[in-house]
Amino acid sequence: MRPSTRAVHVTASTPPNSRPVSVPIFQTSNFAFDDPDALAEALESPDSGFVYTRYGNPTIRALEEQMSRLEGGVAAVCTASGMGAISAVLLSTLRSGDHVIAQNCLYGGTFAMLNDLAARFGVDVTYVAGDDPAEVAAAVRPTTRMLYLETIANPVTRVVDLPAFLAAGREAGLLTVVDNTFATPMLCRPIEYGADVVLHSATKYLGGHSDVTGGVLVFADDARYRQVWHHAMELGAAPDPFAAWLTIRGIQTLALRMRRHCANAAELAGRLAAHPAVGSVRWPGHADHPDREIARGHLSDFGGVLAFDLLGGRSAGHAFTKGVRLVKLAASLGGVETTVVHPASSTHRQLDAEGLLAAGIGEGTVRLSVGIEDVEDLWEDLVAALPAV
Ligand SMILES: *Cc1c(COP(=O)(O)O)cnc(C)c1O
Repeated sequence: MRPSTRAVHVTASTPPNSRPVSVPIFQTSNFAFDDPDALAEALESPDSGFVYTRYGNPTIRALEEQMSRLEGGVAAVCTASGMGAISAVLLSTLRSGDHVIAQNCLYGGTFAMLNDLAARFGVDVTYVAGDDPAEVAAAVRPTTRMLYLETIANPVTRVVDLPAFLAAGREAGLLTVVDNTFATPMLCRPIEYGADVVLHSATKYLGGHSDVTGGVLVFADDARYRQVWHHAMELGAAPDPFAAWLTIRGIQTLALRMRRHCANAAELAGRLAAHPAVGSVRWPGHADHPDREIARGHLSDFGGVLAFDLLGGRSAGHAFTKGVRLVKLAASLGGVETTVVHPASSTHRQLDAEGLLAAGIGEGTVRLSVGIEDVEDLWEDLVAALPAV
């Protein structure tokens, strides 16, 4: 072969007696075949061999199997972001005229997507408070197809009675979908309570190091998996193999990180609640959290996100997020480092006082995503930024 041909044709050898301990990164978009019939077959289904990375890839499949085993599902589909997972499941299972019942505190992007579907595709949505599972039966119509919930809802850490809501959804014959991003499979596995689809923004705790954007859908049954796989492939939702690899690596330490996130959050929740500048603390494990007893029923711990209200209101919240040094002012969460936002002046700035109230957010509410640092260093940083009283 001439040099220009030799430069192009590179084949990785897979030595028969050596097995890599880490999952190799199959950074390839395309797969070669000996037989055209085998190629044709691989284009038809997710389990007839790899043909093209938008359909499937060995590194991405390793992440899918890792997540499917963790959540107790039968199969998973990975996507390039959490919103990719959410849009793939909504677009592949809903059609115009369908009706969705969803919890009223949801990730902002999910709200936007549902409202878009309503406006442009004629999918109706009813938002329920999440206080009583009877809300599901009361909202059901002949056209209702889906019940959409979050395990722990942002930013006020609302916890619905997931087993009871899932039972009510199944009773009504609905497809039940749970965004389990905040809890992770280390604290709760919704499929055990009857969820049909569990999804994650892998960008948060699964990746865990603020270095990857990704999403995952895990399915309780094979037919649903195949249906969504087909549409996700058409939508072009697939992640890059390297992003999948970073996520696999993150998940390997998820159990250790979650234990520390939760322990640090418990400690900070207690100390913040006792501070004179703080009105109330919202963390599902905190003694006066309204959903604490419900959360104890199906969560093995209470997560790394907490919110607290500064008595000084909007200006105090704004000043606090400017005053922290070690803790970073950043919109996202779930990384090893602690981050903070003041929703009223940043992520939820489009809402007026009434809108904020409806979302359970006060003018002085601050949300912390508690990292895995030494809790004494975190406390010193928070105390220094809290208003002197
Ligand atoms: C971040 C987030 C999403 C969206 O995930 P992206 O990876 O940003 O697309 C969805 N749900 C929840 C609960 C999130 O926190």
